[in-house]
Amino acid sequence: MQTQFFAHINGESDPRISEAAEIIRSGGLVAFPTETVYGLGANALDPDAVKRIFAAKGRPADNPLIAHISEFEEIRRLVSALPPEAEALAKAFWPGPLTIILPAAPSVPKEVTAGLPTVGVRLPANDIALALIKASGVPIAAPSANSSGKPSPTTAMHVYDDMCGRIEAVLDGGRSGVGVESTIVSLAGGTPKLLRPGGISLEQLESLLGKVEVDKAVREKLGDNEKPLAPGMKYRHYAPKAPMTLVVGDPEKTIKRIMELAGPNDGVICFDEYFFRITETPYVRGFGHSSHPEEQAKRLFRILRSFDCLPVEQIYSQCPEEKGIGLAVANRLKKAAGFSIISVD
Ligand code: AMP
Ligand code: MG
Repeated sequence: MQTQFFAHINGESDPRISEAAEIIRSGGLVAFPTETVYGLGANALDPDAVKRIFAAKGRPADNPLIAHISEFEEIRRLVSALPPEAEALAKAFWPGPLTIILPAAPSVPKEVTAGLPTVGVRLPANDIALALIKASGVPIAAPSANSSGKPSPTTAMHVYDDMCGRIEAVLDGGRSGVGVESTIVSLAGGTPKLLRPGGISLEQLESLLGKVEVDKAVREKLGDNEKPLAPGMKYRHYAPKAPMTLVVGDPEKTIKRIMELAGPNDGVICFDEYFFRITETPYVRGFGHSSHPEEQAKRLFRILRSFDCLPVEQIYSQCPEEKGIGLAVANRLKKAAGFSIISVD
């Protein structure tokens, strides 16, 4: 299959968005920009189209997709209950990087929910994404547009690298602003639960909902028999080809330990202020100042991908404090490292 690359989409009125919407309506796959990362979309109400997402990504069938909508009211056809907390979250954070898990309406195909009784819904803050969903006239089911296991794509070229020949089209809307995927919060029963940290912080959720539980899989490696509530959290993910180790703790101490550990064939990811201190290897990437986790989130996946073109044997990385969007950055780093973690404190 030839993958069409729609370069430099010029805002929501670009006529190529209607072409892409026609592809979605006829059962095809279109990758599109969002504020978090690029998504790989299909008509969420068409089971055969949704199945093709799993084939294109090599995604395990038990990992559900998020249904993307362009207006709040569209949530009503996807869910069987809409608690007031969901409306409050939507009012505060939509359009934006937040996915809300709710009981699914019977009409949502099991291919979208992976057979769960719940569905994840999100209204993204990206004009091209919103125009595509509107023009398609259907909710769009989409996971991130990477091959399963690889870091999520934050540019259209990353998508093209992974998906060329496997999908009908890529809409190029520039670099993703947030850089990590949406926050996932479950309102499907009991106390609200954070299933995946992302662009909306735990602190922001708590300011609105009061107590929010944090799923164990957010911070820790699960045992073989434990099941996370966001099935995506059980897979090694976001991973560069070379094995990776996180060094956590006070930044002055972690950078010293990394300098002891790293040899000339290893990669290093460090806070910007330490960039010039690393002379042990040429393969060093600064991912933002230690006090700026938003910047780290923005650069993280691009940096992880960049190591795949370098002859590195092992990657060592610093890790931000688990506050604000730092919780999401730390979570992605831990998963990229397969929970290989050295603590210096
Ligand atoms: P991605 O953004 O590529 O990671 O894919 C969507 C994510 O949303 C995956 O981690 C899924 O496990 C998660 N997800 C989607 N629907 C649900 C649901 N109903 N319950 C829990 N997690 C979900
Ligand atoms: Mg993904």
